[in-house]
Amino acid sequence: MKYYSLNHNAPKVSFQEAVIQGLATDKGLYFPESITPLDPSFFDEIESLSDEEIAFEAIKQFVGDEIPAEKLKEIIAETLVFDFPVVKVEDGIYSLELFHGPTMAFKDVGARFMSRCLGYFNKDKKDAKNTVLVATSGDTGGAVASGFLGVDGVNVVILYPSGKVSDIQEKQLTTLGQNIKALEVDGVFDDCQDMVKKAFLDETLAHKNLTSANSINIARWLPQMFYFFFAYKALKSQNKPLVFSCPSGNFGNICAGIMAKKLGLPIEHFVASTNVNDTVPRFLENGKYDPKPSKATISNAMDVGNPSNFIRIQELYNNDLKAFEKDFSSYSYTDEETLEAMKHIYNLPEGYIAEPHGAVGYLGLKKELEKHPNAIGIFLETAHPIKFLDVVEPALGITLPIPAQIESVINEEKVSVKIGTYEELKAFLG
Ligand SMILES: *Cc1c(COP(=O)(O)O)cnc(C)c1O
Repeated sequence: MKYYSLNHNAPKVSFQEAVIQGLATDKGLYFPESITPLDPSFFDEIESLSDEEIAFEAIKQFVGDEIPAEKLKEIIAETLVFDFPVVKVEDGIYSLELFHGPTMAFKDVGARFMSRCLGYFNKDKKDAKNTVLVATSGDTGGAVASGFLGVDGVNVVILYPSGKVSDIQEKQLTTLGQNIKALEVDGVFDDCQDMVKKAFLDETLAHKNLTSANSINIARWLPQMFYFFFAYKALKSQNKPLVFSCPSGNFGNICAGIMAKKLGLPIEHFVASTNVNDTVPRFLENGKYDPKPSKATISNAMDVGNPSNFIRIQELYNNDLKAFEKDFSSYSYTDEETLEAMKHIYNLPEGYIAEPHGAVGYLGLKKELEKHPNAIGIFLETAHPIKFLDVVEPALGITLPIPAQIESVINEEKVSVKIGTYEELKAFLG
């Protein structure tokens, strides 16, 4: 499979090259040259397939022959080491829980898949190892650290803003050791991001084979299709149209859902639910794409002013706004509305505990379902409530038990290197 740049000013590349480069040389995002729907029999028989078999069918055309089928199956098996339950929240509304992985956020799926692809591509290289360089405001760094831990041929360097991530998030970044290094930056997230961008453009670091690990990378983005298929399998017997609501920041998750639909997965409608960082809802309202600097909210993994994957979504619809609006809505919610929704969901008979991102997803779903009275609604629960305990506990007046995955890191000792300038990052990378 070949991938082209959405800026249309760079050569087409293979899956392997796209994974290793992350971004095309013209700074465009990579996009697959063709998308072939799966055979209808696949959907007829989906109940008889395991998660691993479903994932393999969904992704194999995008990898092509660059990873042998047996090896790809092994990578998928190592990626899907946890469950994706669909949990009832109220009649006709379900939460698709994506947080049962090692760092308790959905990013575990993409990070585990990408790390193993890179490891495979580097298996025969002696010194031309890749260095994954990421800036994180919280969840990405933990998922990347855990996903890449112990993968041969890949070093990982994570930059995070000192004192600006939660204690749990910091422990997830700084306690693993081995091929994972954490740099604690004296500054804010944007300073970390600026240093990373500068490093990618710095020719004197070319020998480090730097690559990124956020959802611009196709190997992190594409596996996020899997759980839309799993939810369909779980709800298929109810024989109703499905509406999915994704709490959206960089729009990688929802874009993967639309890919799943392109492959033939019967999804009636998508909702991109956002916090007050509402660039896409405003676009749908007035047709102007007008990104703004991000604002801080309680659903901070979605504090994104200019969602990088939105361009992929437009490509999926050939920039046809009418076709796009038929399948896709987007609504924005304030922190006050989010907190109210968390309380409302908790007070329903099922007593479901949603964290802020999931609650934003619930709000967008409820609104859209008014237009789809016969549909089942599913919102993605993108993180475990414990990851946002300082919001969840006071809002609901509860104390959350600490899950085993978190318990295992919070008592470990933090190891980080403090840096303040780009020169210090360069010296560290060597
Ligand atoms: C990253 C993240 C999101 C946003 O996902 P996108 O794919 O960037 O839209 C939502 N919720 C949580 C908890 C996240 O970590």
